[in-house]
Amino acid sequence: MNKQELITWLRETDSSALETLWERADETRKANVGDEVHLRGLIEISNYCCRLCGYCGLRAGNKGIERYRMSSDEILACAHQAVEFGYGTVVMQAGEDYGIETQWLGDVVRAIKRETPLAVTLSLGERPDEDLIAWREAGANRYLLRFETSDSELYDLIHPAHGSRVSDRIAMLKRLRELGYEAGSGVMVGIPGQTYENLADDILTFASLDLDMIGIGPYLSHPETPLGQAQWVRQIEPADQVPDTEVMTYKAVALTRLMCPQANIPSTTALATINKAQGRELGLMRGANIVMPNLTPTKYRALYEIYPAKACVDETAAQCRGCLHARIHSIGRTVGHGPGGRKRN
Ligand code: SAH
Repeated sequence: MNKQELITWLRETDSSALETLWERADETRKANVGDEVHLRGLIEISNYCCRLCGYCGLRAGNKGIERYRMSSDEILACAHQAVEFGYGTVVMQAGEDYGIETQWLGDVVRAIKRETPLAVTLSLGERPDEDLIAWREAGANRYLLRFETSDSELYDLIHPAHGSRVSDRIAMLKRLRELGYEAGSGVMVGIPGQTYENLADDILTFASLDLDMIGIGPYLSHPETPLGQAQWVRQIEPADQVPDTEVMTYKAVALTRLMCPQANIPSTTALATINKAQGRELGLMRGANIVMPNLTPTKYRALYEIYPAKACVDETAAQCRGCLHARIHSIGRTVGHGPGGRKRN
């Protein structure tokens, strides 16, 4: 599909046309990555952050939240729980927190690799090259870093630079690949100032980077952020603004599956947040093949508030596991075994 075709689909509102899109995405998913849904246990290891991303509740400027950083023993306990629950991967995610020291995290990764068969995914922001090298040497397998938007003007507006360092997430994704990581990225749907053309370019960028993992969720406004304030505007034609809706997110997920048939695509927590009853399932039925159950200890969960009213904040890890198994089986899919890495023909 070219850009114009993508834009036409993104603007499509006819429900029978959209049914065809969902079916095509589901068939493509089944033919390329099968019926197994892989579970990635998410451990939100710290909510400290030195960055000022315009949309994120963890931003350094938000003085209203209590900050935490998990200990290595707490993280290892979560990893062992992941094994008990039958998950093949743990994802350690955090704000960009330099209190997470290079050596310390390397030791945590090494301990997980020594004590468990898990694949290890990191999602720790724009860390310098030496950190990425050290963690890869320690055994980390994958890294998630959403580029959030392929429009450089919008990107710069919502990602203030960190000191003198240039923020270039696309370059970092390429570097992660060179270092032998599986590289994951993604975007939010409906960021204020995001146009249909921007979102079509995002999907083309996923394909051109040949990403291994692609996470797409709706933008959810957080009141303690600049983008959550009424006065924040990027001047675009109102008719060009992508709405931050559930259906627009499914369109982006389905089109991404068609453009990147073999990628691992999660049905995201943000999607589950805007439709708590069915968002996860509908994502899985419209292109996605991955779910990320939360393993973060309950006492920290509510503090990892990237956006408000996040799904599953009150549940224990065991409840998340039970709930997701039931949801996966209810739509005739199976739970995947093993690390569930990127398939390549
Ligand atoms: N510090 C890490 C992890 C960020 S949280 C990093 O920078 O990569 C993971 C993802 O949550 C972000 O990449 C972003 O796409 C999403 N996110 C953050 N704030 C959000 C919001 N208000 N609404 C929806 N998604 C949000």
